[in-house]
Amino acid sequence: MVEPAQRRKRRGVSPEADVNDDTHVFYRNPFSYYPTVARGDGAYLYDEYGKRYLDACGGAVVSSLGHSVPEVVAAIKEQLDHVEFAHTSQFTNAAQEKLARMLTDRAPGGLNHAYFVSGGSEAVESAMKLARAYWVQMGRPDKWMVIGRDQSYHGNTLGALAAGGNRWRRAIYEPMLFKAPRVAPCFCYRCPYDKKPESCGIDCAEDLERAILEAGPEKVAAFIAEPIVGATAGALVPHPDYFRRIREICDKYDVLFIADEVMTGLGRCGSWYAIRQFGVVPDMLCLAKGLAAGFVPVGATLVHDRIVDTFSSRRHIFQHGHTYMGHPLAAAAGVAVIEYMETHRLVEKSRKLGDELLARLHEALGEHPHVGDIRGRGLFVGIEFVADRDSKTPFEPELAFHRVLRETAFDNGLVIYPMGGTVDGRRGDHALIAPPFVITRAQLGRLVTLLVKSIDQTL
Ligand code: PLP
Repeated sequence: MVEPAQRRKRRGVSPEADVNDDTHVFYRNPFSYYPTVARGDGAYLYDEYGKRYLDACGGAVVSSLGHSVPEVVAAIKEQLDHVEFAHTSQFTNAAQEKLARMLTDRAPGGLNHAYFVSGGSEAVESAMKLARAYWVQMGRPDKWMVIGRDQSYHGNTLGALAAGGNRWRRAIYEPMLFKAPRVAPCFCYRCPYDKKPESCGIDCAEDLERAILEAGPEKVAAFIAEPIVGATAGALVPHPDYFRRIREICDKYDVLFIADEVMTGLGRCGSWYAIRQFGVVPDMLCLAKGLAAGFVPVGATLVHDRIVDTFSSRRHIFQHGHTYMGHPLAAAAGVAVIEYMETHRLVEKSRKLGDELLARLHEALGEHPHVGDIRGRGLFVGIEFVADRDSKTPFEPELAFHRVLRETAFDNGLVIYPMGGTVDGRRGDHALIAPPFVITRAQLGRLVTLLVKSIDQTL
């Protein structure tokens, strides 16, 4: 058994020694030390030594209800008592029928069908392939291209990676990725056009029209975007008119709009679906993470009537599918999560607590010389760190500020989701704060205190 990293550090043992060397697991990062999680309870995780961690990001924005919620555990067990699996090419199951209804009832108009998968990347792959298949059905077989944005992340499988704009994750796989243009992000703090939000004209949305015309509208099948960008830039909230203009451009050129709500969906941003806050209806909407809140792996693509109707009326099937799609345990967990959220009014809580968290962070860090921007919606909050606040100059990438901050916070018993999204063509430093919707106000206060302490210790 390897002893905890922080204890080793205190003893002055080199960080290289902090590896779990007695293992057959191929870790995400073999040079990191991973404590063994022993149990979870509400907003807290405990390792095998009993150390307590305030989980302020639900891993990668997954655990929206906190840990070990008895109602969800009971629902999964009950499903297990009836049937664990039946292949969806042979059977449907009551849990997926119910979950599909619950998801589509809460979705913007026309998104009346749920295609279940096992995670976010699969949801995105399904949406992109469905866009292609739709245009083939419509007699437009040249349409295949999916345009994405810089500063975006849609998953690590090859198609999703190709649509995303995270250059670090893409780098060595470039030769394996389909080639399509990417457009400017809607990044008001670092506007790619050097404009101010009050007088901007949303040039970043217009960039989509440029890219479609450059590629040839006859080739472009879809545009994909996260309503509020998560993993590459830390909760980038777009200009209020951005998505309305995007929708107009998509309609003008017969391009489907895919909203990737893998992070933002299911209450995270203070509404069931974040895109609703921008007044547009996408053609498809991808979900995962908060869908079963970490209890079971699951994902879904919500699909508009007009796409599904095209397949039905032409008596064609969508040639796709995964073994575990519509898995009864995942669906039962999803149903229980939504019921729990309704009972405890958690969407509303996410919105209110999110406002409170933003206010507390502004109060504690608003004038901090190395905090450039604090932003977000609901309990989906991002902080951008800078070497110089006035010039917005990022820290030197070699400092790996976000990584050191994560480790310092972890030692202090606080789990946050750091990232090195791109800033002016090089790595920047951000952190995502996305605590469970059940976090108490006292725990929110503790979160801010531990975060400020960790930032100060990192500098
Ligand atoms: N899309 C978005 C917006 C994400 O943030 C992620 C993961 O962080 C994905 C897709 C990929 O999801 P998964 O890791 O479940 O494949």
